[in-house]
Amino acid sequence: MSARFPEFRLGEVLATSFTGTLSERQGDPVERIPTPERLVDWLTVSGLAVGSCTTAQLERARELRESIHAAATAAALHEPLPASAVRVINDYSARGRAAAVLTPEGERRWRLGATSSVEDALSVVAADAVGVIAGERDGRLALCASPTCRAAFFDTSQSRTRRWCDMNTCGNRQKKARFNASHRGTT
Ligand SMILES: [Zn+2]
Repeated sequence: MSARFPEFRLGEVLATSFTGTLSERQGDPVERIPTPERLVDWLTVSGLAVGSCTTAQLERARELRESIHAAATAAALHEPLPASAVRVINDYSARGRAAAVLTPEGERRWRLGATSSVEDALSVVAADAVGVIAGERDGRLALCASPTCRAAFFDTSQSRTRRWCDMNTCGNRQKKARFNASHRGTT
C-alpha cells in the first residue's frame, strides 16, 4: 500500500465503500483513487484483486462511481433515480464476467476473468449497487449528516438512526466541533 495517498474508508458495503473513494464531496473533495495503481489497491482490499489497470479503466471506474453516488443519493432522498446514472450502472453490471465461487471453508469469493479483470471487478461493484439501491438488503440508504460530506451510506444499525458515513472521521469531527462550540462560551 502506498502511504503517500489518502487512506481508504472501507465500510461493509462494497458499493458505498466505492463511492467513499471520493470524500468531502461538498467541501474540499479528497480523491482516494487518484491513480490506476490506487484503484488496484482498493480492488485488492475489497476482495477483487486485478493484475493491472489502465488510465482509461480508472476513468471508467470513476464514471461508475459517480453514477452509483447519484443514484444512491436519490434513493436516500426518496427521489426518482437519474436515468443516466441507472443506465451507466446497468451497463457496467452487464459487462463483466465475474463468478461467485465458494472456498473450501464455505466463504464466497469472486473469480474474475484473466483478460478483462477491471471490467469484471466493476461489474461486481455495479451489481452490489443494484442490490443496495433496489432495497434488497437489510438496511437503509442515508446521507451523511456532515455538511461538507453528504456521502451516501448504508445504515444497518438496529435502530436505523446512524447519522454519519463513518464514525471515525465525519462522526468524530462533528463531535469535536460541538465540544469546541460548547466550551468557547466558558473560556
Ligand atoms: Zn461523511
